[in-house]
Amino acid sequence: MVTHVVGAGIAGLAAAVALAGAGHRVRLFEAAPQAGGRCRSFTDPILGATIDNGTHLVLGANRHTLALLGAIGGQHRILAAHLPILDLVSRRLTELRPGRPPAGWGETLRAAGLPWVGQHQTVAQRLGRCRSYGSLWQPLCVSALNSPAETAQAALLARLLRALVLGGPQALRPVIFPDGLSAAFAGPALSFLRARGATVRFGHRLSAIHSDHLSFGDHTIALAPKDRIILALPADGARRLIPALPDLACQAIANLHVHLPGPVALPGGQPFLALTGGQVQWLAVRGAMLSATLSACPARPDPATIWAEIADLCGLGPLLPPHRLIFERRATLDHAPATIAARPGPRTPWPHCFLAGDWLASAWPCTIEAAVESGLTAARLAVGQDDLLFSC
Ligand SMILES: Cc1cc2nc3c(=O)[nH]c(=O)nc-3n(C[C@H](O)[C@H](O)[C@H](O)COP(=O)(O)OP(=O)(O)OC[C@H]3O[C@@H](n4cnc5c(N)ncnc54)[C@H](O)[C@@H]3O)c2cc1C
Repeated sequence: MVTHVVGAGIAGLAAAVALAGAGHRVRLFEAAPQAGGRCRSFTDPILGATIDNGTHLVLGANRHTLALLGAIGGQHRILAAHLPILDLVSRRLTELRPGRPPAGWGETLRAAGLPWVGQHQTVAQRLGRCRSYGSLWQPLCVSALNSPAETAQAALLARLLRALVLGGPQALRPVIFPDGLSAAFAGPALSFLRARGATVRFGHRLSAIHSDHLSFGDHTIALAPKDRIILALPADGARRLIPALPDLACQAIANLHVHLPGPVALPGGQPFLALTGGQVQWLAVRGAMLSATLSACPARPDPATIWAEIADLCGLGPLLPPHRLIFERRATLDHAPATIAARPGPRTPWPHCFLAGDWLASAWPCTIEAAVESGLTAARLAVGQDDLLFSC
């Protein structure tokens, strides 16, 4: 029996690693020339450096992601347990720390879902009258859920807050990727798979699923009766193959990568900083590369206006150094109540075919953690092994 995993983003890599690590036969197919999907590094010819498509923040609460990184030996570093936050208007620097409420207890408990929060309520409906709405809850919603507070589901933000702020000392610990996303995820995962005899094919875009074969454009892969399929595709890609799947709304993320003359230190002393009061949500530094993230970004932003907002935080002048703007139109789902209610489970109309991807039903928003968890779930279903884990 072979499991054919289609899509080598984080969900597909997680499924393939879980299966291959337990000795199952795996074939991995990817349409692009590289693995990683929405979580990848590449060498930029303009900047002459390897950059990530976008800054990715993972936290200690993301236990499936950490288990995957542990199994494949992906390069990552876990930092001290606090998240620095700088308000661009007041220039006040605060910290999100485990066990400490980010606002008054009344507001924090309300944000964390006490008393009970309805599935149709948005963050603005739930928290719009709180004193810290504009300075904390609204920007937190945009950076954590990549969705505006006016449309994002309050219950999803509440679950996330409970997991992070009340989840013990490890939960808020930021995990960074000093050598980039691909050195943490795609690179080590592919080495892991190849070392265990899995085959990996790039440039293979799945175009149709038949009872006895998979079509990749001109060529086909035969399916034996006991073979299994895991479709680890983005929501729109899966829907092209299975039209009964829901049409889910998405939100964009923009990242401006700036090649500075030399390394800089950010306020707060960490390699990243959350910002409120402006258009940028995150700043991250890696060597001389500074990256600014704009979440739930309705249109491609102007690099000059981003630079005007952040230059003096790094002690730099108004002239924008060499840069690259990456605008990912379908970065994550739009986490509105109707979209969340429509997130499907891992099963398809065919008993031998399963879904994986960050957009499937999950306690998490569309994140690496949701993608990894979905990959593990699909792998368990494919081989009928409920206790399958990531193993070396
Ligand atoms: C800019 C940006 C910033 C983000 N920041 C964070 C963050 O800070 N923290 C966090 O946890 N998450 C973050 N995310 C979200 C995270 O990147 C995603 O949740 C995760 O990468 C999704 O993985 P996936 O495998 O589900 O999907 P994808 O990455 O979309 O993988 C799907 C793969 O399938 C391939 N494919 C598509 N169609 C076909 C086909 N027909 N045949 C074969 N292959 C096909 C694609 O090429 C792709 O490689 C961010 C995303 C972006 C874009």
